[in-house]
Amino acid sequence: MSAETSRFATRAIHAGQQPDPATGAIMTPIYQTATYAQKSPGKFVEDFDYSRSSNPTRKALEANLASLEGGKFGLCFGSGCGAMDCVLHQLSPGDEVILCDDVYGGTNRLFNRVYDRHGIKVVLVDLTDLAGTEKAFTAKTRLVWLETPTNPMLKVIDIAAISRLCKARGAWLAVDNTFATPVLQNPLALGADIVCHSSTKYIGGHSDVVGGALITKDEAIHEKLKFVQNSVGAVPGPMDCFLLLRSTKTIHVRVERHCENAMKIARHLEAHKRFTRVIYPGLESHPQHAVAKKQMCKFGGMITAEMDGGLEDARRFLERLKIFSIAESLGGVESLIESPAIMTHASVPPEQRAKLGITDGLVRFSVGIEDVEDLIGDMEQALG
Ligand SMILES: *Cc1c(COP(=O)(O)O)cnc(C)c1O
Repeated sequence: MSAETSRFATRAIHAGQQPDPATGAIMTPIYQTATYAQKSPGKFVEDFDYSRSSNPTRKALEANLASLEGGKFGLCFGSGCGAMDCVLHQLSPGDEVILCDDVYGGTNRLFNRVYDRHGIKVVLVDLTDLAGTEKAFTAKTRLVWLETPTNPMLKVIDIAAISRLCKARGAWLAVDNTFATPVLQNPLALGADIVCHSSTKYIGGHSDVVGGALITKDEAIHEKLKFVQNSVGAVPGPMDCFLLLRSTKTIHVRVERHCENAMKIARHLEAHKRFTRVIYPGLESHPQHAVAKKQMCKFGGMITAEMDGGLEDARRFLERLKIFSIAESLGGVESLIESPAIMTHASVPPEQRAKLGITDGLVRFSVGIEDVEDLIGDMEQALG
């Protein structure tokens, strides 16, 4: 049995990697090289001619991530935004995109403030409303882009249902799987054409690398993406690929604990009088809990909750926390907390924020893997 055909935890540790043929080194070396000696002009060792095009450390990471998502092809980028940009470069002026209405702030900015100038029409849609989504398609719709769970409202979108709509109309479906991670949800198996990750988050898991990835099963799509990756050049360095390979070896263990801690904290907040609303896909009160149970095997480490006061109460709570750090980003082993209205989603126009329910009292937790009793104790002292 090869690493590629084994179960998730084995693939996390071995897929894409073997002991270095030259030395037996167990860890894939950091091939810190820009170019490669050719045996004869135009005769490369494998496909290694120049490191923008291909690099052995990156290649191992690309194969590893492809395996974790149940795909055939992986491409890595210098950031999640670089990965998204590679997909958007596949479009032409006049094309239309259906974009999930509750997305990462940088995704919104890339679609609506960069690609709008290149003649791409972006339609924001609540993709939990399937009838409304169907109506948003036109003859020009080439791509549907979604995140699930969404950011910051943690809406859960039915990937298989959206995929059926896309297939009927010949549009690509791209799913940003950053929040769910490949441990909990595999969009390619549910019909998505492309999976996107900000590997800065759970894939990296230690808040020390910025990176992105695209994974697909379809060779024709992969070739198109690879052409743009090489032409535009938003590739990661070998050192960052090495760090991410080290990270994926523990992703299943980390994500398991993130989920366990988040479930306990979500239940604690739900029973707390200072919080008027707790949004976590694992709670029975979550509006799409049934969809979450169907397509995810656990519910992730992100929780969004609304405090009873306004901005000042939320600010005071955040400032008093000692273990949770006030920071953007998510998915690291350490717990973070933020205020979407003033931090991650400040660039979203106020009308759209209001429409989505991003109120001033909203706080978003990225629950880490510390001792959960200490995390709950920290929240209690900050609220007291
Ligand atoms: C962070 C993030 C991105 C952007 O990734 P970068 O690595 O910061 O460029 C995209 N999507 C989601 C869901 C994210 O959380």
